Amino acid sequence: MIFDALELNYSKINAYLSCPLLYKFIYVNRKYTPPTGPSSFGLSLHRAIARYHSGGRTLNDLIVYYQDSWLHQGYETPQQAMEYYRNGEKILEKWYMFHSEETNRILYWEKNFRFDFEKWVIKGTIDRIDIMPSGGADVIDYKTGYEGHTAEQAAGSLQLGIYALAAEEAFGLKPERVTYFILSEPQKISVPFTDEMRSRTLETIRDVGTKIFEYDFTGRGNCIHCPIRKICRESTDKETPLDTADSRSCV
Ligand code: SF4
Repeated sequence: MIFDALELNYSKINAYLSCPLLYKFIYVNRKYTPPTGPSSFGLSLHRAIARYHSGGRTLNDLIVYYQDSWLHQGYETPQQAMEYYRNGEKILEKWYMFHSEETNRILYWEKNFRFDFEKWVIKGTIDRIDIMPSGGADVIDYKTGYEGHTAEQAAGSLQLGIYALAAEEAFGLKPERVTYFILSEPQKISVPFTDEMRSRTLETIRDVGTKIFEYDFTGRGNCIHCPIRKICRESTDKETPLDTADSRSCV
């Protein structure tokens, strides 16, 4: 696939904001970023829950979907993979209990979207959209744990902002709030979707989109959080193991 500067999604914008060189590595040069244990783990949980929403009924269904969805890439040892796997089972058991008592209507899960904004096309996939008793939409992103996921961060989240805009623009919904659903607890951290959040999100899309369009890859990010820090020619940190810093923040 050729490089398309006018097609954006959250991962592309986040990669550019993390480091323009990281964006160029992945989306212009089309090079592969290796999976990490945490990224494989999060994806395995997401896939199991999405499949459950599509027709699962029991906890046993959910655990079977988890077994089917398990990704083993990125772990340092088989023992580490097994520890993650067992932890995932516990997380899903708690999620199942929590989910059984929820009253919102789940409208969409793993829902692909696209909408136009100025000269850009914005695409992505939303973990889940619920309709609340008020009729408004709750735009939900599943997160494995609390790291970096407070109410303050939800209010400033570019990812949640893009997904709320998609709920409006692609599906004609009224996004009333945006939510981090912390799977490991489980707990919802919800904040209102405000006009300020909408404006800030659009401004970021325009700003980053313009720089990408102009082929401006001059800035540099913080290498310790970067998933390609071991192979990047401009890395200032080739020593820190990929599992000890939060590589997911870059992808
Ligand atoms: S290792 Fe550092 S310079 Fe290289 S892409 Fe990552 S953040 Fe940017």
